[in-house]
Amino acid sequence: MARLYNDPRWVALHSAAFSCPACGDVHGGLFALVREEPDAWTVAARRRGNASTTQSDAGLLTEQFCILDGELFFLLCDIDIPVLGAPGKFLTQSVWAMVAKSDFTYYVEAFAKRRQGGLAPWHGWLANALKGYPDTLDLPCTIMPRGETLRPTLRIDDGAHPLALEQRQGISFERILDLYALNEHDLRAEVLGRTS
Ligand SMILES: [Zn+2]
Repeated sequence: MARLYNDPRWVALHSAAFSCPACGDVHGGLFALVREEPDAWTVAARRRGNASTTQSDAGLLTEQFCILDGELFFLLCDIDIPVLGAPGKFLTQSVWAMVAKSDFTYYVEAFAKRRQGGLAPWHGWLANALKGYPDTLDLPCTIMPRGETLRPTLRIDDGAHPLALEQRQGISFERILDLYALNEHDLRAEVLGRTS
């Protein structure tokens, strides 16, 4: 496997921050794909005719926790996918997982005391349909809490699912650029343009 550090597009992506032609944000180097809300929240907000807000009659949505209609409970988790050819580098897919109320409450209480890192892994269901994969909504998963302010990590239980395979085996830079493009960050022309 060729080292990615020799790929001029990789170098371009990491050499300087630039404004994303698609989303307008400034990117420099790899960045996480973060879903701002569970898909169920989006659907509920649309049904109620609300813009998707952090707080509405639909429930509560923060950067990390979500409660919908008082009965559905979600946590934001990270899927860290190793980048082929760049040891120690990861593409992070930040996704929502639906969890049981008891697990949610347990986690939030431990999190408030920064003791969540000591909790045992538990079960959940992926709560976003991720672009670029066969349907990921409701996929059973295992959630592994981490310490400090880190989000829990998430592992797809079905080891044969393409997302699980990428998680285990890694992902190419080509595929990362494609996933960025699918998620409103098409940098392909930008990084190529910088190599000339
Ligand atoms: Zn962007």
